[in-house]
Amino acid sequence: MHTDQELNYLTKSLLHHPSPYIIYELDGSIAWANIAANYIFNLDSLDELSVVKIDEKITNNFGDLDSIALYYDTPIEISLRKINFFMRTRVHMIPVDLSNGIMLIELLCTSRSGLDALRKTIDCIEHQRIELAYQKQVNLETNEITGIEALLRLQDGDGGYLPNDQIIPQIEGESLFSLVVLESLVQLEKFFAIKEEIGLKDATLYLNVSAHTIMHPEFCSIFTDFVEKHKLGSNQFGLEVTETAELADINVASESLSFLKSKGIKIALDDFGAGYASLKYVRDLPIDVVKLDKHFTFNASDPSTARLISFVSEVCADLELEMIGEGIETEVDKQMMLDLGCKIGQGYLMHRPDFLDSFKNKET
Ligand code: C2E
Ligand code: MG
Ligand code: MG
Repeated sequence: MHTDQELNYLTKSLLHHPSPYIIYELDGSIAWANIAANYIFNLDSLDELSVVKIDEKITNNFGDLDSIALYYDTPIEISLRKINFFMRTRVHMIPVDLSNGIMLIELLCTSRSGLDALRKTIDCIEHQRIELAYQKQVNLETNEITGIEALLRLQDGDGGYLPNDQIIPQIEGESLFSLVVLESLVQLEKFFAIKEEIGLKDATLYLNVSAHTIMHPEFCSIFTDFVEKHKLGSNQFGLEVTETAELADINVASESLSFLKSKGIKIALDDFGAGYASLKYVRDLPIDVVKLDKHFTFNASDPSTARLISFVSEVCADLELEMIGEGIETEVDKQMMLDLGCKIGQGYLMHRPDFLDSFKNKET
């Protein structure tokens, strides 16, 4: 069969495929994109998109016409209009003849809502509609502010915000998230600049990161470089690690966290008791803080939930870990958590997340 004809069949069959597909030629240009790819990148023309970097192992490996493709998950660097980012892809080598070929690149995305999340996040980043809100963590006995949590706020462009709970898990595995982390650190610099002045010298400023993020050594060095560059003392900066999937390798995670801790970064295990964050992590990971998921607080009047909360308090006390109760909305919640042994809390009763300006204006 003639090659053009083969390509024609290929593009036709993939045009409406639910995964985004692009065809890449070895000069870096994109020769074709299917409807899903056009959708997430919001393309007017194919010139707006190019592949900046792809593993040489792959580009040098054309020619084996009979083999099964070797690469299931390859990060590639993409340039889209004025921004560059990494995405996880599956690269299909399509040999045209023995010395030449094209690459069909599938951007890994498993659902329609995932496509939407990618499109919206790319749009927010491209148009700088990304901010951080901050929420205080408070010693429930003394009212002292022990920490501040930075929370992502992606503006939807219509005056509202994209719901973190829905969007973050969809893009978390994507290296696209690196852009969010880098922009968050730029914004945190502004908080650190006034932290002492607004009376929060001793509080830890936490950023949320996914467990995927801390598994990558390049990411860990982004955080340790940040601490070094700003000469932040021990426990000034912390990471709240959230788990949305089982950690692939607990030893790698443990090494990463030990490295971060050795540089004075405080580590909190977020949403403990929900999803995948389990007792195994408390035992095997070098963490400083356990943040009990807010659904425990919401149900603290239920006797079995109350027993679980006091069990976690005891474990934390034994292991000399701090425990933070999330989702404290009322005085009753606060008192119940205190009675069950949880001394630090976070929630709308004490403080609602707010932007940096509100910290500048008010005495804390
Ligand atoms: P999280 O880290 O457990 O953050 C706490 C969430 O609970 C925040 O929602 C906060 O606004 C909300 N919250 C605080 N106090 C109360 C309360 O008293 N009652 C209730 N009902 N909710 C309360 P938000 O900002 O929508 O964030 C949701 C989740 O998204 C976070 O849960 C975290 O897992 C993730 N997230 C937020 N920012 C980032 C980020 O910068 N990076 C990453 N990777 N994840 C983030
Ligand atoms: Mg958190
Ligand atoms: Mg949480």
